[in-house]
Amino acid sequence: MDAAASVDADAAPASHDRLARDRTRRQRRLLLGLAAASFALDTLLLLAFSALGVLAPLRALAYGAAGALSTAFFLALDLSGFSDRQRDPYLTVPSVWLNSTLIVAAASWMPQVGPLLLMLLFIVLAFGALRLSRRDVVAVLAVLAPALALVLLAAGTEFSVPMHTVAERLLTAGWIVSVLARCMLLGLYGAHIRTQLNLRNQQLRQAHAEVHRLATRDDLTGLLNRRSILQCAQTQAAASGALAVALLDIDHFKRINDTLGHPAGDEVLRQFGLVVAREMRVTDRAGRFGGEEFLVLLRGVNDPVTAARIAERLRAAIEQHRWRDIDASLAVTASVGVAVLRPGEPVERAIARADRALYEAKHAGRNRVRVG
Ligand code: GH3
Ligand code: MG
Ligand code: MG
Repeated sequence: MDAAASVDADAAPASHDRLARDRTRRQRRLLLGLAAASFALDTLLLLAFSALGVLAPLRALAYGAAGALSTAFFLALDLSGFSDRQRDPYLTVPSVWLNSTLIVAAASWMPQVGPLLLMLLFIVLAFGALRLSRRDVVAVLAVLAPALALVLLAAGTEFSVPMHTVAERLLTAGWIVSVLARCMLLGLYGAHIRTQLNLRNQQLRQAHAEVHRLATRDDLTGLLNRRSILQCAQTQAAASGALAVALLDIDHFKRINDTLGHPAGDEVLRQFGLVVAREMRVTDRAGRFGGEEFLVLLRGVNDPVTAARIAERLRAAIEQHRWRDIDASLAVTASVGVAVLRPGEPVERAIARADRALYEAKHAGRNRVRVG
Protein backbone atom coordinates (compact mmCIF):
# COMPACT_ATOMS: atom_id res chain seq x y z
CA MET A 1 0.00 0.00 0.00
CA ASP A 2 2.74 2.42 1.08
CA ALA A 3 4.93 1.32 -1.80
CA ALA A 4 2.08 1.92 -4.26
CA ALA A 5 1.47 5.36 -2.82
CA SER A 6 5.12 6.33 -3.17
CA VAL A 7 5.20 5.07 -6.77
CA ASP A 8 2.15 7.24 -7.48
CA ALA A 9 3.81 10.23 -5.88
CA ASP A 10 6.88 9.73 -8.08
CA ALA A 11 4.75 9.29 -11.19
CA ALA A 12 2.68 12.42 -10.56
CA PRO A 13 5.30 15.05 -11.54
CA ALA A 14 6.28 13.05 -14.65
CA SER A 15 2.68 12.82 -15.87
CA HIS A 16 2.21 16.49 -15.00
CA ASP A 17 5.23 17.35 -17.18
CA ARG A 18 3.79 15.28 -20.01
CA LEU A 19 0.42 17.02 -19.73
CA ALA A 20 2.10 20.43 -19.79
CA ARG A 21 4.19 19.43 -22.84
CA ASP A 22 1.11 18.14 -24.66
CA ARG A 23 -0.71 21.38 -23.91
CA THR A 24 2.22 23.45 -25.21
CA ARG A 25 2.40 21.26 -28.31
CA ARG A 26 -1.32 21.70 -29.00
CA GLN A 27 -1.09 25.47 -28.60
CA ARG A 28 2.02 25.62 -30.79
CA ARG A 29 0.31 23.65 -33.55
CA LEU A 30 -2.75 25.88 -33.29
CA LEU A 31 -0.55 28.96 -33.72
CA LEU A 32 1.27 27.28 -36.60
CA GLY A 33 -2.09 26.55 -38.24
CA LEU A 34 -3.11 30.17 -37.77
CA ALA A 35 0.18 31.33 -39.31
CA ALA A 36 -0.42 29.05 -42.31
CA ALA A 37 -3.98 30.36 -42.68
CA SER A 38 -2.66 33.90 -42.39
CA PHE A 39 -0.13 33.32 -45.19
CA ALA A 40 -2.86 31.70 -47.30
CA LEU A 41 -5.14 34.71 -46.78
CA ASP A 42 -2.35 37.15 -47.73
CA THR A 43 -1.59 35.09 -50.83
CA LEU A 44 -5.25 35.10 -51.85
CA LEU A 45 -5.48 38.87 -51.38
CA LEU A 46 -2.22 39.35 -53.32
CA LEU A 47 -3.62 37.14 -56.10
CA ALA A 48 -6.75 39.31 -56.10
CA PHE A 49 -4.49 42.38 -56.54
CA SER A 50 -2.80 40.50 -59.40
CA ALA A 51 -6.21 39.88 -60.96
CA LEU A 52 -6.74 43.64 -60.87
CA GLY A 53 -3.41 44.06 -62.66
CA VAL A 54 -1.61 45.64 -59.70
CA LEU A 55 1.23 43.10 -59.59
CA ALA A 56 2.50 39.98 -61.33
CA PRO A 57 0.74 36.80 -60.14
CA LEU A 58 4.10 35.05 -59.95
CA ARG A 59 5.16 37.37 -57.14
CA ALA A 60 1.96 36.68 -55.20
CA LEU A 61 2.57 32.95 -55.63
CA ALA A 62 6.23 33.33 -54.63
CA TYR A 63 5.11 35.03 -51.43
CA GLY A 64 2.67 32.18 -50.77
CA ALA A 65 5.44 29.63 -51.38
CA ALA A 66 7.79 31.45 -48.96
CA GLY A 67 5.02 31.46 -46.34
CA ALA A 68 4.42 27.75 -46.88
CA LEU A 69 8.16 27.05 -46.57
CA SER A 70 8.38 29.06 -43.35
CA THR A 71 5.41 27.17 -41.87
CA ALA A 72 6.82 23.83 -43.05
CA PHE A 73 10.18 24.68 -41.45
CA PHE A 74 8.58 25.30 -38.04
CA LEU A 75 6.32 22.27 -38.44
CA ALA A 76 9.43 20.12 -39.09
CA LEU A 77 11.06 21.52 -35.91
CA ASP A 78 7.84 20.71 -34.03
CA LEU A 79 7.53 17.15 -35.37
CA SER A 80 11.22 16.35 -34.80
CA GLY A 81 10.82 17.25 -31.11
CA PHE A 82 13.35 20.10 -31.45
CA SER A 83 10.80 22.73 -30.35
CA ASP A 84 9.95 20.76 -27.20
CA ARG A 85 13.57 20.89 -26.08
CA GLN A 86 13.84 24.69 -26.35
CA ARG A 87 13.42 27.07 -23.45
CA ASP A 88 10.74 28.81 -25.51
CA PRO A 89 9.03 25.84 -27.21
CA TYR A 90 7.04 28.31 -29.32
CA LEU A 91 10.30 29.43 -30.99
CA THR A 92 9.03 32.98 -30.82
CA VAL A 93 12.40 34.64 -31.47
CA PRO A 94 13.31 32.75 -34.67
CA SER A 95 9.78 32.94 -36.04
CA VAL A 96 9.62 36.71 -35.46
CA TRP A 97 12.99 37.13 -37.20
CA LEU A 98 12.11 34.87 -40.13
CA ASN A 99 8.65 36.31 -40.73
CA SER A 100 9.78 39.94 -40.35
CA THR A 101 12.57 39.35 -42.87
CA LEU A 102 10.12 37.71 -45.23
CA ILE A 103 7.68 40.61 -44.98
CA VAL A 104 10.30 43.34 -45.45
CA ALA A 105 11.73 41.43 -48.43
CA ALA A 106 8.23 40.98 -49.90
CA ALA A 107 7.48 44.70 -49.44
CA SER A 108 10.57 45.71 -51.38
CA TRP A 109 9.85 43.04 -54.02
CA MET A 110 6.20 44.07 -54.42
CA PRO A 111 6.34 47.86 -53.95
CA GLN A 112 2.88 48.21 -55.59
CA VAL A 113 1.45 46.86 -52.31
CA GLY A 114 4.54 47.63 -50.16
CA PRO A 115 2.79 49.59 -47.35
CA LEU A 116 0.11 46.91 -47.09
CA LEU A 117 2.72 44.18 -46.76
CA LEU A 118 4.57 46.19 -44.11
CA MET A 119 1.32 46.29 -42.11
CA LEU A 120 1.76 42.53 -41.64
CA LEU A 121 4.64 43.40 -39.31
CA PHE A 122 1.99 44.45 -36.78
CA ILE A 123 0.74 40.86 -36.71
CA VAL A 124 4.24 39.42 -36.37
CA LEU A 125 5.14 41.82 -33.57
CA ALA A 126 1.79 41.25 -31.81
CA PHE A 127 2.65 37.53 -31.85
CA GLY A 128 6.14 38.36 -30.59
CA ALA A 129 4.75 40.50 -27.77
CA LEU A 130 3.18 37.34 -26.29
CA ARG A 131 6.55 35.85 -25.38
CA LEU A 132 9.52 37.99 -26.40
CA SER A 133 11.74 39.34 -23.67
CA ARG A 134 12.46 43.04 -23.44
CA ARG A 135 15.92 42.39 -24.88
CA ASP A 136 14.45 40.50 -27.85
CA VAL A 137 12.04 43.36 -28.56
CA VAL A 138 14.88 45.89 -28.50
CA ALA A 139 16.98 43.67 -30.79
CA VAL A 140 14.12 43.18 -33.28
CA LEU A 141 13.35 46.90 -33.36
CA ALA A 142 17.04 47.78 -33.65
CA VAL A 143 17.32 45.68 -36.81
CA LEU A 144 13.86 46.42 -38.20
CA ALA A 145 14.19 50.19 -37.96
CA PRO A 146 17.25 50.56 -40.27
CA ALA A 147 15.98 47.77 -42.54
CA LEU A 148 12.68 49.61 -43.01
CA ALA A 149 14.47 52.91 -43.51
CA LEU A 150 16.63 51.31 -46.22
CA VAL A 151 13.64 49.73 -47.96
CA LEU A 152 11.74 53.04 -47.96
CA LEU A 153 14.79 55.06 -49.03
CA ALA A 154 15.40 52.69 -51.92
CA ALA A 155 11.70 52.61 -52.89
CA GLY A 156 10.55 54.52 -55.90
CA THR A 157 7.18 56.19 -56.42
CA GLU A 158 5.63 52.82 -57.18
CA PHE A 159 5.91 51.99 -53.45
CA SER A 160 2.30 52.74 -52.66
CA VAL A 161 -1.14 51.54 -51.72
CA PRO A 162 -3.34 50.49 -54.68
CA MET A 163 -6.06 53.16 -54.80
CA HIS A 164 -6.67 53.74 -58.51
CA THR A 165 -9.97 51.95 -58.92
CA VAL A 166 -12.94 51.19 -56.69
CA ALA A 167 -11.97 47.50 -56.71
CA GLU A 168 -8.42 48.35 -55.62
CA ARG A 169 -9.75 50.60 -52.84
CA LEU A 170 -12.12 47.91 -51.64
CA LEU A 171 -9.41 45.28 -51.71
CA THR A 172 -7.05 47.61 -49.83
CA ALA A 173 -9.76 48.18 -47.21
CA GLY A 174 -10.25 44.40 -46.99
CA TRP A 175 -6.51 43.94 -46.50
CA ILE A 176 -6.40 46.52 -43.68
CA VAL A 177 -9.42 44.98 -41.95
CA SER A 178 -7.88 41.52 -42.21
CA VAL A 179 -4.66 42.79 -40.58
CA LEU A 180 -6.62 44.48 -37.79
CA ALA A 181 -8.70 41.35 -37.25
CA ARG A 182 -5.59 39.21 -36.94
CA CYS A 183 -4.02 41.64 -34.46
CA MET A 184 -7.22 41.55 -32.41
CA LEU A 185 -7.25 37.76 -32.55
CA LEU A 186 -3.71 37.65 -31.14
CA GLY A 187 -4.78 40.14 -28.45
CA LEU A 188 -7.63 37.84 -27.46
CA TYR A 189 -5.26 34.87 -27.44
CA GLY A 190 -2.92 36.84 -25.12
CA ALA A 191 -5.83 37.58 -22.77
CA HIS A 192 -6.74 33.88 -22.81
CA ILE A 193 -3.17 32.92 -21.87
CA ARG A 194 -3.21 35.46 -19.03
CA THR A 195 -6.49 34.07 -17.69
CA GLN A 196 -5.08 30.54 -17.81
CA LEU A 197 -1.91 31.70 -16.06
CA ASN A 198 -3.91 33.41 -13.31
CA LEU A 199 -5.95 30.25 -12.86
CA ARG A 200 -2.82 28.10 -12.64
CA ASN A 201 -1.24 30.54 -10.17
CA GLN A 202 -4.35 30.30 -8.04
CA GLN A 203 -4.23 26.48 -8.16
CA LEU A 204 -0.55 26.62 -7.23
CA ARG A 205 -1.26 28.87 -4.26
CA GLN A 206 -3.99 26.50 -3.09
CA ALA A 207 -1.69 23.49 -3.50
CA HIS A 208 1.02 25.31 -1.57
CA ALA A 209 -1.40 26.13 1.24
CA GLU A 210 -2.50 22.47 1.32
CA VAL A 211 1.11 21.25 1.45
CA HIS A 212 1.77 23.70 4.29
CA ARG A 213 -1.33 22.49 6.14
CA LEU A 214 -0.31 18.85 5.70
CA ALA A 215 3.22 19.57 6.90
CA THR A 216 2.22 21.56 9.98
CA ARG A 217 -1.13 20.14 11.10
CA ASP A 218 -2.15 16.96 12.82
CA ASP A 219 -4.58 15.11 10.55
CA LEU A 220 -6.97 13.91 13.22
CA THR A 221 -7.42 17.01 15.37
CA GLY A 222 -6.45 19.80 12.98
CA LEU A 223 -4.18 21.20 15.69
CA LEU A 224 -0.48 21.82 15.04
CA ASN A 225 1.64 18.67 14.87
CA ARG A 226 4.48 17.97 17.27
CA ARG A 227 7.18 19.52 15.11
CA SER A 228 5.18 22.73 14.50
CA ILE A 229 4.09 23.25 18.11
CA LEU A 230 7.70 22.79 19.25
CA GLN A 231 8.89 25.24 16.61
CA CYS A 232 6.16 27.65 17.72
CA ALA A 233 7.28 27.25 21.35
CA GLN A 234 10.88 28.04 20.44
CA THR A 235 9.87 31.08 18.37
CA GLN A 236 7.59 32.46 21.09
CA ALA A 237 10.18 31.86 23.81
CA ALA A 238 12.77 33.70 21.75
CA ALA A 239 10.39 36.55 20.86
CA SER A 240 8.93 37.63 24.17
CA GLY A 241 10.20 35.30 26.84
CA ALA A 242 6.87 35.49 28.70
CA LEU A 243 5.47 32.03 28.07
CA ALA A 244 3.88 29.20 29.99
CA VAL A 245 3.41 25.68 28.67
CA ALA A 246 0.60 23.29 29.54
CA LEU A 247 0.80 19.56 28.83
CA LEU A 248 -2.58 17.82 28.79
CA ASP A 249 -2.91 14.05 28.84
CA ILE A 250 -6.26 12.24 28.58
CA ASP A 251 -6.93 10.08 31.62
CA HIS A 252 -7.23 6.33 31.06
CA PHE A 253 -7.46 6.82 27.33
CA LYS A 254 -6.42 3.24 26.74
CA ARG A 255 -9.61 2.13 28.49
CA ILE A 256 -11.71 4.27 26.13
CA ASN A 257 -10.05 2.56 23.18
CA ASP A 258 -10.46 -0.84 24.76
CA THR A 259 -14.14 -0.48 25.68
CA LEU A 260 -15.52 1.66 22.83
CA GLY A 261 -13.08 0.81 20.06
CA HIS A 262 -10.38 2.73 18.25
CA PRO A 263 -12.74 4.83 16.06
CA ALA A 264 -14.50 6.14 19.19
CA GLY A 265 -11.06 6.86 20.66
CA ASP A 266 -10.23 8.85 17.53
CA GLU A 267 -13.46 10.78 17.88
CA VAL A 268 -12.57 11.60 21.51
CA LEU A 269 -9.19 12.90 20.34
CA ARG A 270 -10.84 14.98 17.61
CA GLN A 271 -13.36 16.54 20.02
CA PHE A 272 -10.65 17.01 22.64
CA GLY A 273 -8.78 19.08 20.04
CA LEU A 274 -11.93 21.11 19.35
CA VAL A 275 -12.48 21.83 23.05
CA VAL A 276 -8.87 22.94 23.52
CA ALA A 277 -9.01 25.13 20.39
CA ARG A 278 -12.30 26.68 21.55
CA GLU A 279 -11.12 27.38 25.07
CA MET A 280 -7.71 28.87 24.39
CA ARG A 281 -7.11 32.57 23.73
CA VAL A 282 -6.45 33.68 20.14
CA THR A 283 -2.82 34.36 20.99
CA ASP A 284 -2.31 30.85 22.39
CA ARG A 285 -1.29 27.86 20.29
CA ALA A 286 -2.16 24.20 20.72
CA GLY A 287 -0.65 21.10 19.20
CA ARG A 288 -0.93 17.33 19.44
CA PHE A 289 2.28 16.45 21.19
CA GLY A 290 1.84 12.68 21.16
CA GLY A 291 -0.91 10.05 20.94
CA GLU A 292 -3.30 11.48 23.56
CA GLU A 293 -1.10 14.24 24.81
CA PHE A 294 -1.49 17.90 23.91
CA LEU A 295 0.78 20.91 24.34
CA VAL A 296 -0.73 24.38 24.78
CA LEU A 297 1.44 27.51 24.68
CA LEU A 298 0.14 30.29 26.92
CA ARG A 299 1.66 33.42 25.48
CA GLY A 300 2.46 36.35 27.74
CA VAL A 301 1.88 34.29 30.90
CA ASN A 302 4.82 34.63 33.29
CA ASP A 303 3.41 33.67 36.66
CA PRO A 304 2.42 30.20 37.89
CA VAL A 305 -0.90 31.35 39.37
CA THR A 306 -2.23 32.64 36.04
CA ALA A 307 -0.85 29.58 34.24
CA ALA A 308 -2.60 27.25 36.70
CA ARG A 309 -5.87 29.20 36.37
CA ILE A 310 -5.87 28.92 32.58
CA ALA A 311 -4.94 25.23 32.78
CA GLU A 312 -7.77 24.68 35.24
CA ARG A 313 -10.22 26.34 32.85
CA LEU A 314 -9.07 23.98 30.08
CA ARG A 315 -9.36 20.97 32.38
CA ALA A 316 -12.87 21.96 33.47
CA ALA A 317 -14.00 22.54 29.87
CA ILE A 318 -12.83 19.04 28.97
CA GLU A 319 -14.62 17.48 31.92
CA GLN A 320 -17.84 19.34 31.08
CA HIS A 321 -17.87 18.58 27.37
CA ARG A 322 -20.83 16.47 26.11
CA TRP A 323 -18.86 13.26 25.71
CA ARG A 324 -22.06 11.23 26.06
CA ASP A 325 -22.84 12.20 22.45
CA ILE A 326 -20.10 9.74 21.48
CA ASP A 327 -21.30 7.10 23.90
CA ALA A 328 -23.81 7.32 26.74
CA SER A 329 -21.32 5.80 29.18
CA LEU A 330 -18.41 8.01 28.17
CA ALA A 331 -16.78 10.52 30.51
CA VAL A 332 -13.45 12.07 29.62
CA THR A 333 -11.04 13.93 31.87
CA ALA A 334 -7.49 15.08 31.48
CA SER A 335 -4.55 15.70 33.74
CA VAL A 336 -2.53 18.86 33.18
CA GLY A 337 1.03 19.85 33.99
CA VAL A 338 2.00 23.50 33.60
CA ALA A 339 5.30 25.32 33.80
CA VAL A 340 6.28 28.95 33.34
CA LEU A 341 9.37 29.54 31.25
CA ARG A 342 12.20 30.85 33.40
CA PRO A 343 14.42 33.66 32.09
CA GLY A 344 17.07 32.25 29.76
CA GLU A 345 15.68 28.72 30.05
CA PRO A 346 15.37 26.64 26.86
CA VAL A 347 11.70 25.96 26.19
CA GLU A 348 12.37 22.20 26.08
CA ARG A 349 13.34 22.35 29.75
CA ALA A 350 10.06 24.10 30.66
CA ILE A 351 8.19 21.38 28.74
CA ALA A 352 10.12 18.74 30.72
CA ARG A 353 9.03 20.44 33.97
CA ALA A 354 5.43 20.50 32.74
CA ASP A 355 5.79 16.79 31.96
CA ARG A 356 6.95 16.06 35.50
CA ALA A 357 4.02 18.14 36.85
CA LEU A 358 1.69 16.10 34.64
CA TYR A 359 3.12 12.91 36.11
CA GLU A 360 2.38 14.30 39.61
CA ALA A 361 -1.18 15.16 38.57
CA LYS A 362 -1.65 11.57 37.38
CA HIS A 363 -0.26 10.22 40.64
CA ALA A 364 -2.41 12.52 42.72
CA GLY A 365 -5.51 10.91 41.21
CA ARG A 366 -5.81 12.40 37.66
CA ASN A 367 -8.28 15.06 36.41
CA ARG A 368 -6.29 17.86 38.03
CA VAL A 369 -3.68 20.54 37.36
CA ARG A 370 -0.16 20.62 38.79
CA VAL A 371 2.45 23.33 38.37
CA GLY A 372 6.07 22.35 37.74
P1 GH3 B 1 -3.13 7.66 31.75
O1 GH3 B 1 -4.33 8.12 32.46
O2 GH3 B 1 -2.06 7.21 32.70
O3 GH3 B 1 -2.63 8.64 30.79
O4 GH3 B 1 -3.55 6.35 30.96
P2 GH3 B 1 -3.74 6.21 29.43
O5 GH3 B 1 -4.49 4.95 29.19
O6 GH3 B 1 -4.36 7.43 28.89
O7 GH3 B 1 -2.27 6.17 28.93
P3 GH3 B 1 -1.48 5.18 28.07
O8 GH3 B 1 -0.22 5.90 27.70
O9 GH3 B 1 -1.31 3.88 28.79
O10 GH3 B 1 -2.34 4.93 26.78
C1 GH3 B 1 -2.42 5.83 25.77
C2 GH3 B 1 -3.22 5.21 24.69
O11 GH3 B 1 -3.49 6.12 23.62
C3 GH3 B 1 -2.51 4.05 24.06
C4 GH3 B 1 -2.69 4.26 22.58
O12 GH3 B 1 -3.16 3.11 21.93
C5 GH3 B 1 -3.71 5.35 22.49
N1 GH3 B 1 -3.55 6.14 21.28
C6 GH3 B 1 -2.46 6.83 20.90
N2 GH3 B 1 -2.70 7.46 19.74
C7 GH3 B 1 -3.97 7.18 19.35
C8 GH3 B 1 -4.80 7.54 18.24
O13 GH3 B 1 -4.40 8.26 17.35
N3 GH3 B 1 -6.07 7.07 18.22
C9 GH3 B 1 -6.53 6.26 19.22
N4 GH3 B 1 -7.78 5.85 19.13
N5 GH3 B 1 -5.77 5.91 20.25
C10 GH3 B 1 -4.51 6.35 20.34
MG1 MG C 1 -3.32 9.22 29.05
MG1 MG D 1 0.01 9.60 27.52
